[in-house]
Formats: sequence, structure tokens, C-alpha cells
Amino acid sequence: MEVHILTIFPEMFTSPLQASILQRAQERCLLQIHVHNLRDFTTDRHHITDDYPYGGGAGMIMKPEPIVTGIQEIQARFGPAYVILLSPQGTVLTQDVAKGLAQRQRLLLICGRYGGVDARVQAYVQAEMSIGDYVLTGGELPAMVLLDVIGRQLPGVLGDYHSVEADSLFHGLLQGPHYTRPVEFAGVRVPDILLSGNHAAIVQWRRRQALRTTLQRRPDLLQGAALTPQDQAMLLEFQQEEAEPHAQ
Ligand code: SAH
Repeated sequence: MEVHILTIFPEMFTSPLQASILQRAQERCLLQIHVHNLRDFTTDRHHITDDYPYGGGAGMIMKPEPIVTGIQEIQARFGPAYVILLSPQGTVLTQDVAKGLAQRQRLLLICGRYGGVDARVQAYVQAEMSIGDYVLTGGELPAMVLLDVIGRQLPGVLGDYHSVEADSLFHGLLQGPHYTRPVEFAGVRVPDILLSGNHAAIVQWRRRQALRTTLQRRPDLLQGAALTPQDQAMLLEFQQEEAEPHAQ
């Protein structure tokens, strides 16, 4: 997969891309990342990328010409891309949305700054994407979030020690609790079942914990999750336990 980023702060990407999983993905040629400086697509002597808003008001607005020239030139050079404008007004990024994006061959991420981007840029992008209902100062951190969530899903990027599929939200549920050594910490023991070596029982226990955690913390997720009749029965059991906590 190839990801292009268009930004006025290319240097912000240096260290996040040179560490850990994203670095390894690039070394193994599973992910190619090209960071483009938006100022390279300006035509004026001062490489200006923003201007005052028409109608007045606070904050500068990013000019349309350098962004649209960048979108066109990058695609002319590398090939057609799915163009995404990072924006707090976009579709909110979820694991499902990220799964879809990970199927694409080439992405081009546009990072806004200041008061946002001239509205006429919208005609040149395929999607606007938000990383959540809050406003950041620029699209660079959102672009990195998108890169990370997509990058770790690409086949071969994560080692065996970590399964993307087992993660929270991949199948619509949160993960249950994890434990590592020591067996006892601060008076709390690791649940016996995890020490039992009974793989089938452990799988079942984990499913049960995932359902319980999701019910307790994010019941809204249960509507979209693929649940078996056994799952439904367990959920009913948890709900009954909660309704009559002293019944057992
Ligand atoms: N005035 C604009 C916000 C500008 S924030 C508005 O109200 O819509 C400046 C830039 O930061 C945006 O152009 C966008 O690229 C980025 N940004 C801010 N919050 C974001 C979010 N939640 N998700 C994705 N990008 C965001």
C-alpha cells in the first residue's frame, strides 16, 4: 500500500514513521509513505498557502490552488489515489471504516491547518474524515492516526505475537482483560482458567469476558456485533445477574 500525505509540516511525520510498527512495515515494503510539502506546489515567491477569509472572521483559510495542484501532480506522478481530507466535519473514523481503507492501493491524505480549507477543495477529494468529535490544530496528527490504524491491518505488518483480529472492535466487541506474570500481584491472582492449559475453555472464557466488558462499557456496540445464540444467552445471563445481584 502507498500513502501520500500533503502537509505544510512534513517534519512532524519524521519520528512517528521511524519507530516501531510503521517503520517495520516500510522496511518490509508492505507500506510506502511519501510526505509532500504543500509549499512545493505554490507558484508565488513566498510559498504562501493561506489567506484571509472572505466575509471576515477569525483565522486564516488554506488556499485552494496549492492543494488542488498537489492532488493533481501527486496523482500524475504516482497514479490514481483515494483522496481524503482530514476534517472535524468528516465521517468519523471507526475500525470498520479503517478496514475498508486498508483495501485501497493508494491513499492521499490532505492535512488542513488554521481555520480549515477553502470549500472548493471538496470537489477534488473522495472523502472527508474525522478522528473524533473534537477539534485539533491541524490534520497531521489525524493523518498519523489514520496511518497507524490502517498500517497495522495490512497483512504481514504485525508479528504473530499480536493478532489484529483479536483486538477490540475488530469483530465489533471490546476485548476482555489480559494478564501476564506474576501469577499473583497485589493480592490478585490471575484467573485459574488461564493457567489451565485448556485451550477450548480459555477461548470460551475470553468470549464471555469480551461480551461482559462490552455490555458494561459500550453497550451501544452490541447492536452492530455478530452474536451467536450462545452469546445472546450469556448477555441475558449478565443482565439478569445485574438485575438481581443477590440471587446467586
Ligand atoms: N474551523 C474548522 C476547524 C479547523 S481545524 C471547522 O470548524 O471545521 C484545522 C485543521 O485541523 C482542519 O482543517 C483539519 O485538517 C484538522 N482537524 C482538526 N480536527 C480534526 C478532527 N477531529 N479530525 C480530522 N482532522 C481534524
